[in-house]
Amino acid sequence: PQRTDVVLRGTDVAVHFGGVKAVDGLSFALETGRIFGILGPNGSGKSTLLAAITRLIPLTRGRLEIDGQDLGALKPAKLAGLGVARTFQTVRLQQELTVRENIQLGADSRSTRAGSVRTGVDEAIARTGLQGLEEHLPGELSYGTQRRVEIARALAMSPRLLLLDEPTAGMNKTERAEISTLLRELRAEGLTQLLVEHDVQMMVETCDHILAMNFGKLIAEGTPGQVVRNEAVQDAYLGR
Ligand code: ADP
Ligand code: MG
Repeated sequence: PQRTDVVLRGTDVAVHFGGVKAVDGLSFALETGRIFGILGPNGSGKSTLLAAITRLIPLTRGRLEIDGQDLGALKPAKLAGLGVARTFQTVRLQQELTVRENIQLGADSRSTRAGSVRTGVDEAIARTGLQGLEEHLPGELSYGTQRRVEIARALAMSPRLLLLDEPTAGMNKTERAEISTLLRELRAEGLTQLLVEHDVQMMVETCDHILAMNFGKLIAEGTPGQVVRNEAVQDAYLGR
């Protein structure tokens, strides 16, 4: 078998909020240059997992490693230096700054790490189809367009690992297909991605590998085809 490099590894990762076991013993490995999907119904712990990976919430148990380095003692501000960029489930743009200025903020915390996919501000704007909108304020744009600004800001960080929390929420079918195409183009350039997404079709079209979860625990893992056919997934997620 071919040797594969693991960018991000989780071992028995758990995050509990009092009695709520939001994430409860997940183990996973993100291989370089692939799109790893996390699928699960609302409240299954997907955003909490991303918050743990980005050091915004402490682990109750388990271990997270980037390139074999323990994330345990790392401050959130250090993640950009490791080449980790993310988007949030709800839009978090600086409302008083223009589109270009928001994306420039990403470039200001750019990773210089080897293996990162280098993307300038203008390139990030072009890739996400934001040309002509650079001088607008976020509030003047549709929700779907604001989401693209967030992706552009993350790309301007020149990440080597991109974490996306439901990037197509609030988008129509055409916009979703455009995002799927963009993520696959970035994969072709070698960018490793962790995609949390609600939309099953988007996941199947986009991911190489999917981990399905419910109530903080793994219920299935495999290729998109295997996961969508899995009975536990259909029961939990597709409401069969
Ligand atoms: P998902 O992103 O899959 O919809 P979340 O990770 O947002 O799920 O939430 C998982 C569970 O953890 C839910 O039951 C949610 O109410 C709970 N939860 C999330 N964040 C907190 C928090 N800061 N404090 C207490 N409970 C939380
Ligand atoms: Mg969420």
